[in-house]
Amino acid sequence: MQALGVFGGTFDPIHYGHLRPAQVVRERLALEPLLIVPAPHPPHRRQPVAAANHRLRMVQLACEEFPGFEVDDREYRRGGPSFTVLTLESLRSELGARPICLLLGMDAYEDIEIWHEWTRLPQLAHLVVMTRPGWEFPGEAQLPAWARGRVVHEARTLTQVSAGCIFFQPVPPEDISATAIRDAIARGESVRGQLPDAVWEYICTNRLYQPRGADAETQSR
Ligand code: ATP
Repeated sequence: MQALGVFGGTFDPIHYGHLRPAQVVRERLALEPLLIVPAPHPPHRRQPVAAANHRLRMVQLACEEFPGFEVDDREYRRGGPSFTVLTLESLRSELGARPICLLLGMDAYEDIEIWHEWTRLPQLAHLVVMTRPGWEFPGEAQLPAWARGRVVHEARTLTQVSAGCIFFQPVPPEDISATAIRDAIARGESVRGQLPDAVWEYICTNRLYQPRGADAETQSR
């Protein structure tokens, strides 16, 4: 069975450190489609700087450059905190037994035990963990009890069962972070090349991530 991919995030803003690793995973696992799911109200982290609608628009612009990526705005339509478990639950009810692969950077995977109802995540999807510069994949001995026995090494296993496996997928390093992008813009620097041109132009047009107080009204719109 062909698997569907889900890649959620705050995307504040979306950049090539999100997009290129996800593209590598999409091709490696033949995910069709790969849903990019922006979180309007991420519950586990500092609140985003750009308003939810701006982040959604940037994701839409970015995905035009990546065939096979589809923007899924169900977390906007649902309202309330953007809990991944609810997103996976609604996809599962649409897809029946089809495999779902939830993509995560290694930093996000390390924090998974603080996610809302996190123990249900592997019941609903496979976890596909991507390398990220600065974070190492765990060795067998470092795996927590819940993850032991779930790790698979053959990509095709992910197409044979609906959910429940953990797959570590190395990707070419993209040393780009949304925090560093926001800081650079606030210092007045260009970040062209770290994200799609259409996203950079959107940031400039809407004066996003300017120093605090410079254009606060535009950012919260
Ligand atoms: P920040 O870069 O400020 O830490 P973030 O990009 O990690 O923010 P999100 O937008 O929520 O925050 O990230 C969405 C997903 O993308 C997460 O699973 C994260 O691990 C992953 N990710 C982000 N940047 C990279 C990168 N450079 N390489 C691989 N994965 C990444």
